[in-house]
Amino acid sequence: MTHIPSKCPFCGGNIEKGTTTFTADLQTGVVVVRNVPALVCSQCGEDWLEDSTAENLEAITQRARAQKTQLEMISM
Ligand SMILES: [Zn+2]
Repeated sequence: MTHIPSKCPFCGGNIEKGTTTFTADLQTGVVVVRNVPALVCSQCGEDWLEDSTAENLEAITQRARAQKTQLEMISM
């Protein structure tokens, strides 16, 4: 389970809703997911994913691995 802090533990900045880019290197290929909803530190850019988002990304990654996709670039 991901615990999303109320303040950035790295720089103490405010955490705001935003988007991030997720990348996974599967060795057989690479998956890039853009516009992933995330909570992002307004100061240092560190990001946190909610559990449901992380599960979606895991499913996408597993499918790409099973299909031996060389490069998948999608937008959430
Ligand atoms: Zn920060």
